[in-house]
Amino acid sequence: MPDKIVVAGVPVDTRHWIGGRRVASGDTFADHSPIDGRLIGEIARGGPAEARAAVAAARDAFPSWAATSRSERARLLHAVADGVEKRIEELAIVETTDNGALLRSHRRGVMPRVAHNFRFFADWLLTLEHDDFETRGHTNHVSWDPAGPAVLITPWNAPLMLATWKVAPALAAGNTVVLKPAEWSPLTASLLADIAAEAGLPAGVLNVVQGYGAEIGDALTSHPDVRRISFTGSVPTARRIAGSAAANLTPLSLELGGKSPLLVFADADLDLAVDLAVEQYDNAGQVCLAATRILVEESVAEEFTRRFVAKAGALVQGDPRDEATDIGPNIHPRQLEKIDGFVRRALAAGARAVIGGQRGDGQCYAPTLLTDVAQDSEIVQEEVFGPVLTLQTFAGEEEAVRLANDTRFGLAATLATGDPERAARVGARLVAGTVWVNCFFVRDLQAPFGGSRLSGVGREGGTWSFDFYCDLKNTVTAPKGWKDHG
Ligand code: NAD
Repeated sequence: MPDKIVVAGVPVDTRHWIGGRRVASGDTFADHSPIDGRLIGEIARGGPAEARAAVAAARDAFPSWAATSRSERARLLHAVADGVEKRIEELAIVETTDNGALLRSHRRGVMPRVAHNFRFFADWLLTLEHDDFETRGHTNHVSWDPAGPAVLITPWNAPLMLATWKVAPALAAGNTVVLKPAEWSPLTASLLADIAAEAGLPAGVLNVVQGYGAEIGDALTSHPDVRRISFTGSVPTARRIAGSAAANLTPLSLELGGKSPLLVFADADLDLAVDLAVEQYDNAGQVCLAATRILVEESVAEEFTRRFVAKAGALVQGDPRDEATDIGPNIHPRQLEKIDGFVRRALAAGARAVIGGQRGDGQCYAPTLLTDVAQDSEIVQEEVFGPVLTLQTFAGEEEAVRLANDTRFGLAATLATGDPERAARVGARLVAGTVWVNCFFVRDLQAPFGGSRLSGVGREGGTWSFDFYCDLKNTVTAPKGWKDHG
């Protein structure tokens, strides 16, 4: 296995990054591009030994990193952001080759945002303070102590973006990190290790191990030296991780799947509502937050559908490197098979495909809208994670809220309405970590982010991230000469 491969002109190291060194494994796994199915390279395939080595490196580096001043940690995180900004083009093309998402979004939106993730948490760290307060003459001082090595496990749909949502706050908080990227798109995590080293991050502060979750995951999440686990991925994996973390009661943050609704009321700007609905095909539908259940008020359903079909019909599907492409391929033949299975079962159960309903060229799935679906059917209740939306109608707010809340998930909800009072009334009743009104995907890192029910445990963002990655301590100091006389 070559230690370095060249991906669209960019050299990428295929080995792990442990304790400031590149480390190979005896075995490898194959990484294929969703664009043409071609083998990109053989990647080092870690197991328990690599997991233990990475946690040991993170544990050894922890005392010194935790003791590093806040301003120095912030300076280093800004240096990482500088490195990301210098390499936006390289990161963008490697990510697109590896996971098939649009090159233009990686260039203009995602990679600049990756740099922002580091800058935001570096700056937030410097403002993090609780005012001291007094109790019967005693001073209470609350401090944010770094918790220890953090294991961060991430999915393939937005690899570097989702990894750095965790890496940046974990490092800012003074923790050391073991990052395990998904096996279907591991490459940009390796580039991040290079960037962090070039920025001067000390050895062992950031470690990256690659491999199949089932082989390396348990050794990471059950390790007694790991003090935090943050996971983004599917519900079944989250259950396994929670079971494994239980041995040491390691605190967990879980960002999981969704089946979010888009509620379109008759008083909405229908063109805006249609734009919001079509946006749900972004990243070929492989977005946890996607509002895949479109709920439309009966009186405007026909007109909404007519405009939706016209707009979705104009979408260009194909090579994600082309500027004109709106929807690229899905990540893996297995994912494509899974999506097609959901659609075939829905059609067999009586659903009607308004558009799509079948595979497209190569590894693409045709943007699909299914109607005549029952609320308790699989297609309405389960996350597909592909370009497949369902359309149902409702009569009035009561039914809208009932349908919107009637799944096991609670990640997000989007409302299209021209009535601010209705937005407030309905929004307050929705079970969701984020509610968007007449907009979608606006995500400020200051805001709490996470899901309710099976969509997750905990919230990250701003101070909530530091709450998670730190051990909060209250130090109570008596006034000089004070004696407790009972
Ligand atoms: P997945 O659960 O299959 O894998 C996620 C990660 O977990 C991968 O790195 C994988 O290797 C690892 N893993 C697998 N088994 C493991 C184990 N036993 N122990 C430790 N790690 C293990 O998820 P996926 O298919 O990569 O991602 C898609 C899912 O992620 C969808 O459900 C989607 O909704 C969710 N997601 C959620 C958010 C969010 O913020 N809520 C964001 C993006 C994706």
